[in-house]
Order: sequence, then structure tokens, then C-alpha cells
Amino acid sequence: MGLAARILKQDPTGEFRHMIHDEVDKWVDQIIDEVFEDGKEPTVMELSQLFSETKQKFFGACFQALIEQKYAGLLEQEYAPCPQCGKMCKKRRSNLKQMVTMHGPSVLKRPWFYCVDCSYGFSPLDKALEISRKKYQFDVQKKSTRTAAEVPFSSGSELFEELTDHPVSDHFIHDTFEEVGEYACLEDVIPSQEEITARCQGVNENSWRPVLVVASDGAHVPTRPKAKRNEKRGKGRWQEAKGFRIYLLSKDRIVHLASWHQIQNEEQFGEDLSFVASRIPQADLRIGLLGDGADWLWKHMVACFPKGRQILDYFHCAEHIHKVARLQYGEKSQKCLEWVESTITRLFYAEVDNVIWGLQRMKPRDTLAKKEIRKLIGYLQNNRERIHYRGDRIGGYPIGSGGIESANKFICHTRMKRSGAWWVKETGNEMLGIRCAIYNGTYNKVFEKYKKSQIPR
Ligand SMILES: [Zn+2]
Repeated sequence: MGLAARILKQDPTGEFRHMIHDEVDKWVDQIIDEVFEDGKEPTVMELSQLFSETKQKFFGACFQALIEQKYAGLLEQEYAPCPQCGKMCKKRRSNLKQMVTMHGPSVLKRPWFYCVDCSYGFSPLDKALEISRKKYQFDVQKKSTRTAAEVPFSSGSELFEELTDHPVSDHFIHDTFEEVGEYACLEDVIPSQEEITARCQGVNENSWRPVLVVASDGAHVPTRPKAKRNEKRGKGRWQEAKGFRIYLLSKDRIVHLASWHQIQNEEQFGEDLSFVASRIPQADLRIGLLGDGADWLWKHMVACFPKGRQILDYFHCAEHIHKVARLQYGEKSQKCLEWVESTITRLFYAEVDNVIWGLQRMKPRDTLAKKEIRKLIGYLQNNRERIHYRGDRIGGYPIGSGGIESANKFICHTRMKRSGAWWVKETGNEMLGIRCAIYNGTYNKVFEKYKKSQIPR
């Protein structure tokens, strides 16, 4: 080693600067070739394209140079303690690690050790730098998973390359998504108790306790059984994704607390809701429970929030009334409109018994109308105690679950119901989990858990 080299060796920042200057020179040479030769006059688009093509290599090399200087000690290590038993092990060989980050490709030549006692091979650099076993590093994995949560895997791959200049296959996006999805469990997707408490305190703006809304609903998702390789796909069927959204009503806005949707049965729904309820400071809040007439949802909401005010979703209720009016009086007839209006007004003033009495005296136009009238009577009788919209309004409670409807649309329909998309239950639930995490602001936490599981010990 010459004197100059030795001096540089003792000055890692100087050497880093030196290496970067080399890379800049290489890059400038490329640009000069492409731009300044033969009277070329590239446009903005063409220059941008040139930068896209060259920046990966340039930044990838800078990235590599930085690691080589900063972690020189680990790259030149001859002995390292076994992470399992602590025994000193001698370097066996140098292994090449090809990796790609959002900034381009880099190659690291790092030492590899093997402990005979533990039959365990390890690379201390991988642990220190949190290098993924995959070629594409965690920064790429995080963004590609985020992309796949919004668009189908195949277009996700195209879109990703289009926007980042990284060709990432749809298989990679799909497989990574499934691996991250395993960590999108209820415990981490729902904000912590401290976070929820802080959001609750944030809306405490007058002497009344703030209103917490728990809105539950089901949405149908197209599913199919998991097929083995070379096996015909099984018959598809629609299954219900049961879910809830919990939010706070503040003076002029909705403060979101938590959303959770899964393709699951009602017992599991009940367990999940109960888990989330345990993170909520119920005593400091007034609680409104919103839902349509489905029995399973009321059973669990009431069990988890025993002091909650039960409110039959106004929009679902109005839908039933419109249906009867259409069948009985004909679509958009004057009589139809009048009857709807007066019925809804009565319900608004909690005159449920009056409405039921009127329905019982109604002479059905035909058998179809008769059937719907009978259904509506049953529906109102079942939900009698949950209809008090005027009182709800006065108390500052919501009367319609617009909140859950839009959460359902956002979380389920936009990604789950694309034409031709059929979901294996497990993947469907991972998709719902990750989408809920994004919506709840907990995606970083979920991804961190996944990342931890992937880093060598
Ligand atoms: Zn060992």
C-alpha cells in the first residue's frame, strides 16, 4: 500500500469523497457522450429519460462506496463471535451480496463465518445493516407492498417500474405482499391503547364527553378455495367480510380510531371487536353503536360496549321503507313519495308503534307487496328500541353509518371487488389487514414486525 493510499485509509470520509468523485466522473462521461456529441439538442423529456437510465447505476455505486467506507471494519473482519454460543469463529470465505435498493444496484463482498459447534453460518454485516435475504431490499419491499395494496399485482409491477424505474416482477410483489401480510394481525393493525387514548383526549373540546361511534357491517367478497399447482381452481363463492369502524365525532370532523375487516365468522368478529374494545377508555366517552338489522352484529356490539346507545342505521332503515313504498304504490308515484316522507318523519320522532300499526292495516297491492310489508313489520319490531333519531340528533349521536359505508367501500370494494379478482381466504384477509393498517396509520409498525422477522439473528 502506497503512502497516499495509507493516508486515505485512515481517513474514511476523505476516501469516501474520493470514491464518489470517481463515480461522478464516470457519470459525467456518460452524460457528455449522450448530450454534447454531434450537435445533439435533447428535450426535457429526453434528458429526464437519460437521468432515469443513468441514476440507478450512479447512486447504486455511491451507496456501495458509502457502505464500504462506513463499515470497512465489518467488511475486513477476520474473526467474529458466533451469535448463538459466543465462540470466536474464523472467516471462511467472502460472499458476494447483490442487492438493489430504491437507489439502484450495489454489490457487497462481505466475510462469511461458520460456527461448527452450532452448525450456524452468519455474516455480521447483514445483521448490522439489516440486509434482506432477498435481492430487493426492505425499502423496495415496503413500497412494492404498499403499491399492491392499491392495485392488482400485475399492474402493480408495471406501475412500480413506470414510477421508480425499478423492474420488479409481479411474483416478487405478490410473494413479498403475502409475507408482510402475515404480520398484519389485529394486535398491530389497531393503534395502541396509548395512541387511542391520545386521539380521544384530542377531541375533548367541551363539557360533554365526546361521542365514540362503533359501526359494524358486512361486505361480500368473492372467494375461491386455494388450488394446488396444476390443479383446477375450485368453485368460487361470495363470503362475508365482517368489519367495524370506530371513530370519534368532533365538532366539525370525524377522528378515525380503528378499522378492521376480515373474512370470518361471527364468533371471530366478536373476539376481534372485544379485543379492540379493551383498548378504548369507554368510561370517558359517550358511545353510539350503529348497524343495520343483522342480529350477529348487535349481539357482539352490545357485549363489547354494554353502555352504548343502540342506533338502527337510518339509511338501511329508509331503504326498507322505500322498497315497500315502491311495491305498494308504484315507483315515484305521488302516493309513494308522500307515504315515505310521513313514515320516515314518524320514525324520526320515535313513533315506531304507529308505523307498525299503519303497516298492519295496509291492504297489500299484491303478494310481493304483502311479503315486503310483513318483512318491514318484523324488522321494525326487532329494532323498535333502536329507533330514536330525533333524540340521537339532540344528543349529538350519528343516525347513519355513512362512516362504515365509506370505510367498507374504501377497504373492501375498491381492491377486493375488481372484475375477475377471486380471493383465497388467507390472501384476502392479508389484503384486508394491510389495507386496514394503511387506513389506521399502522402500516409502518406492521412492516417493522415483518422486517425484524427477516433479519438474521
Ligand atoms: Zn456457536
